[in-house]
Amino acid sequence: MRVLVTGGAGFLGSHLCDRLLSDGHDVIALDNFFTGAKKNLSHLANRPDFEIIRHDVVNPILLEVDWIFNLACPASPIHYQHNPVKTVKTSVMGALNMLGMSKRVGARILQASTSEVYGDPAVHPQPESYWGNVNPIGLRSCYDEGKRVAETLMMDYHHQNGVDIRIIRIFNTYGPRMAVGDGRVVSNFIVQALRGEPLTVYGEGSQTRSFLYVEDLIDGMVKLMAREGPDAHEPVNVGSPHEITMLELVTTLGKIIGSDLKIVHRPLPADDPVRRCAVTERARERLGWQPKTSLEEGLTRTVAYFREILDR
Ligand code: NAD
Ligand code: UDP
Repeated sequence: MRVLVTGGAGFLGSHLCDRLLSDGHDVIALDNFFTGAKKNLSHLANRPDFEIIRHDVVNPILLEVDWIFNLACPASPIHYQHNPVKTVKTSVMGALNMLGMSKRVGARILQASTSEVYGDPAVHPQPESYWGNVNPIGLRSCYDEGKRVAETLMMDYHHQNGVDIRIIRIFNTYGPRMAVGDGRVVSNFIVQALRGEPLTVYGEGSQTRSFLYVEDLIDGMVKLMAREGPDAHEPVNVGSPHEITMLELVTTLGKIIGSDLKIVHRPLPADDPVRRCAVTERARERLGWQPKTSLEEGLTRTVAYFREILDR
């Protein structure tokens, strides 16, 4: 297959490029380098089966490919809130442009959606059948509603034009190649701990998330793209079913780093979801997928990565 990965220079996109190349595909990574970096792909630079295009998905582009993974979009709250109008444009116009390409060349397309479509959920844990509880005018809306519209566009192109779509709802994923300044909790805590700084716990730290290691996420994403059948267009949650509080995350990291980590409380950002945890039955039944990496193992590998880049 010739495969396009938008957002290919980002955290997840670069791991996806690695995986697709090792599966024998030809890969084009497309990115505007807002939160991604060329260094995430530098080890692939000389391969004849790989190329990078600097391009912004809000503008149309003509390419001939078989599969499109549409990952382009800043994922960390500090980055997607930096220019919220641009975030909406990236999700909405990016999805439109990539769907237009799919329709033109008959390519299968996967949209990277998010557990944020469930908002601050009133149903817990969250199955795919839950419609969500999203504030349409809050700080997180540019991201949450942008992704919800992207899902709508995917479904409408599927029903109206027969486009072959896949929708993955990704829950919090962490691992090597998260940027040092990414701002999400796992990279923040690890970088702070390694620098001997107190860990910034927002609010009381009793809010929960379920954290998935990047390799497991990419495996679920590739399995979903390859799935055939009448229900293949329906959204699938890929995430960890293991829910923990942010204070428990501090404790787990303390054991891995081997020191008593100090914390400092910071104000809880507006609309920060209180609880979040994936229901993963659909991924298990339809894709034969389940996470293989424990939180301790995944965090240990991620700590090793940050130790190396901070020492450089
Ligand atoms: P990331 O910020 O590391 O990667 C996003 C990539 O998209 C970056 O390389 C960035 O430069 C690129 N990009 C942003 N706007 C663009 C534009 N307009 N045109 C072209 N490229 C653009 O984030 P990530 O964690 O790798 O997330 C990848 C995708 O997965 C995103 O769509 C995100 O919403 C989704 N997702 C991630 C998580 C997670 O926990 N990592 C959870 C849910 C959903
Ligand atoms: N968080 C925190 N300290 C940080 C960064 C984040 O306590 O330095 C909290 C944040 O308020 C949220 C949780 O950790 O409750 C996960 O935040 P992240 O930005 O990683 O992801 P999201 O909120 O989008 O799930």
